[in-house]
Amino acid sequence: MRNLPIITQLVDAQARKISYLRISVTDRCNYECTYCVPEDGAQMVRRQLLLSFEEIVRIARLCAGMGVRRLRLTGGEPTVRKDLSVLVAQLAAIEGINEIAMTSNAHLLEGMAEPLAAAGLSSVNVSLDTLDPGPFAQLTVRGDIAKVIRGIDAAIAAGLRVSTNAVALRGVNDKQLLALCEFAWQRGILPRFIEHMPMSGGDAYQSSQHLSAAAIRQSLAEELGEELHAIGQSAGRGPAQYWRIGESERRVGIISAMSEHFCATCNRVRLSATGQLHTCLAHDDTADLRAIMREGGDDDALSDAICAALAIKRDGHQFQLDGAGGPRKHMISIGG
Ligand code: SAM
Repeated sequence: MRNLPIITQLVDAQARKISYLRISVTDRCNYECTYCVPEDGAQMVRRQLLLSFEEIVRIARLCAGMGVRRLRLTGGEPTVRKDLSVLVAQLAAIEGINEIAMTSNAHLLEGMAEPLAAAGLSSVNVSLDTLDPGPFAQLTVRGDIAKVIRGIDAAIAAGLRVSTNAVALRGVNDKQLLALCEFAWQRGILPRFIEHMPMSGGDAYQSSQHLSAAAIRQSLAEELGEELHAIGQSAGRGPAQYWRIGESERRVGIISAMSEHFCATCNRVRLSATGQLHTCLAHDDTADLRAIMREGGDDDALSDAICAALAIKRDGHQFQLDGAGGPRKHMISIGG
């Protein structure tokens, strides 16, 4: 018999309310972005070690009962997980969940956007680091920009809210910032830039490529000949800070883990494809929820493990501009 009080809102030791769960549905990816995958590759696990839909839904339902309202599906590449729409429909049916988003490279989205939207997906962030076909193919290793653009257009046509995400790298895509914005603005969608973080023990990170949020804003302001006005975060929807261009309707988002920290407003936890709960992207601590489930643990045991992990959620990350201070884990294993 459980004696602990019933938790209706997950709160961490810093009194941050947790309302957002990011779920990696696979550790596989059809792209191999050079800034994401470490040089010696990322080890894929046996399929039996990945959470089943039933296990994912069980954890999401439990978290919804403890105040989680928003889910994001990520990977690896979430669209390579078989029957993803079925999972989306099951997650959308959970009481308390009012938004399901996805992060994707959009390579397979052309044929999937409609069924995903019909199943209950409401938005997608598409990774798009450059519009130049040659550099795009190089950066992603197996990427096809034409397919990605068709995927984006299909997502817009399906009624999904779409943003683009570019990891901004000096000497790689820093001359494409405005072109990426204009690509998005022409479609009525939101462009965003991400500062590169030293994941994988700093393996794929080069400090000379660091492009700060301030440098991104300055470059856009100079090229546009307009000022950027801060409009803050989109409440509860992730770490991006949004900026308005002059007096226009155009917006740009910047995720600045390296130069302008946002840990104080963190409302997120992450579930890996193998059922590890990560309370911070930037640290390696995890709680093994798969082990609890596969050893027959009940929902009380699972919620106790989730609460215990949150009680020691770190107050912030230790990323350093020289590439030190990050976790050993790979971005491809935990998702964005
Ligand atoms: N495959 C999906 C995709 O491409 O969007 C989801 C997984 S991917 C790991 C999620 C996001 O993380 C992408 O937008 C990618 O550009 C970003 N990313 C990967 N490595 C990163 C790093 N070291 N620092 C910052 N962002 C990174």
